[in-house]
Amino acid sequence: MKIDVIGAGLAGCECAMQIADRGFEVNLIEMKPIKKSPAHHVDTFAELVCSNSLKSNDVNTAGGLLKEELRILGSHVIECADKTRVPAGGALAVDRDLFSQAVTEKVKSYKNIKIVNKIAEKAEGDITVFASGPLTDEALIGEISRLCKNDFLHFFDAAAPIITYDSIDFESAFISSRYDKGTDDYINCPMNKEEFEAFWNELVSAETAHVKDFEENMVFEGCMPVEVMAKRGMDTIRFGPLKPVGLIDPRTGRRPWAVLQLRKENNYNTMYNLVGFQTHLTWPEQRRVFCMIPALKNAEFVRYGVMHKNTYINSPDLLDKNFALVDNQNIYFAGQISGVEGYVESIASGLVAGISIANKLQGKPQIDFSTQTITGALAQYISSANGKHFQPMNANFGILDGLDHHERDKQKKKQLLASRSVEKMKQIATLIK
Ligand SMILES: Cc1cc2nc3c(=O)[nH]c(=O)nc-3n(C[C@H](O)[C@H](O)[C@H](O)COP(=O)(O)OP(=O)(O)OC[C@H]3O[C@@H](n4cnc5c(N)ncnc54)[C@H](O)[C@@H]3O)c2cc1C
Repeated sequence: MKIDVIGAGLAGCECAMQIADRGFEVNLIEMKPIKKSPAHHVDTFAELVCSNSLKSNDVNTAGGLLKEELRILGSHVIECADKTRVPAGGALAVDRDLFSQAVTEKVKSYKNIKIVNKIAEKAEGDITVFASGPLTDEALIGEISRLCKNDFLHFFDAAAPIITYDSIDFESAFISSRYDKGTDDYINCPMNKEEFEAFWNELVSAETAHVKDFEENMVFEGCMPVEVMAKRGMDTIRFGPLKPVGLIDPRTGRRPWAVLQLRKENNYNTMYNLVGFQTHLTWPEQRRVFCMIPALKNAEFVRYGVMHKNTYINSPDLLDKNFALVDNQNIYFAGQISGVEGYVESIASGLVAGISIANKLQGKPQIDFSTQTITGALAQYISSANGKHFQPMNANFGILDGLDHHERDKQKKKQLLASRSVEKMKQIATLIK
């Protein structure tokens, strides 16, 4: 039995390890370092292409709950994230290089995972998992089109820039957490009203990079370029990535008019990313406009923000909830290309696909991950939503089954949904060992 997983990204690594855990041999096919997509930079696996945050770790948020479910199910990639975390308040943020190295070492520690270094062009396994990501190499697109009867969609995603710590002007920056809650993990770059308005004026008129096939309104709302958001109105970014609420500038004793937050990229404190500043501006314009923020006046960019086409299949018409093609049960899709959206969601889909493949080969019944869990609800959603207007889906409470009673208090409702899900997942975990 030849099992191929194409792509050693977040989904592919999790999927390969889940299959290998259950005693099967897996070929994990990865094109790096022979070729890298425009958003991939390192040679190691499970590379985070933009933010280093895997979002909230609070189990009463949908993102936090999904991670908790994955821990219960034995996700190796989440374990690597937990081991390489950097302080980021309530979020699970990681040192992206250490994280990627940890996943690579873990994958390579398996005797029954064979790393095949090549650019995949077609499905060659008895079972093949396409986990080649939103930036799947062109060489494979023809094969995916054929298997999916050309039923493809896309949107555009942007990445935020990273700057060096040493270049931040601390005469104009301060360290503190919002509402003084949690640890002081963020560097805050305040602006007064005049500074903000000057910045906004330049931001909305700055030159954007040409992106092949870029169509207006094709950006994913959760990863919208800051300049696109700014064009919706002057206050839109003041209620978004530049929101000043809960922050007091110690030099004035007052809340600034707007604040950009910088988040640690690594535990050595050498690099910081501009939180929420995904951008489509040309590189010189990023330097010109972002350096108008006083604390960034001498900023040295380690990596500029970029925008990429993000491709996914029209999964509701194509996949079942095990992430297999309905009309070809030996072909699986996992990760962003399968119609889930986000790092952790990609890991979850890889885990579900991997367990499903192992169960099938062992002649065991398939696991029902339950629509009371985010993992199960995501699998259900991508395989059954209305395919006509299908949008990639990230973890949220809206896809879960409702409670069996009406709960008015929103926070209480989330807590109840989360504890129900955790209990359910603990039961499910006993079935998958
Ligand atoms: C620009 C951009 C920014 C994003 N920012 C975020 C963010 O901040 N937060 C978030 O939660 N999500 C973000 N996403 C969405 C998504 O979560 C990530 O893309 C995530 O990495 C998807 O995981 P994956 O496993 O599906 O793909 P990837 O992690 O991209 O892994 C795919 C792997 O397949 C390899 N590959 C591709 N084609 C071939 C081939 N033909 N043969 C062999 N190997 C191949 C690639 O080299 C890569 O290693 C972003 C996406 C993009 C495009």
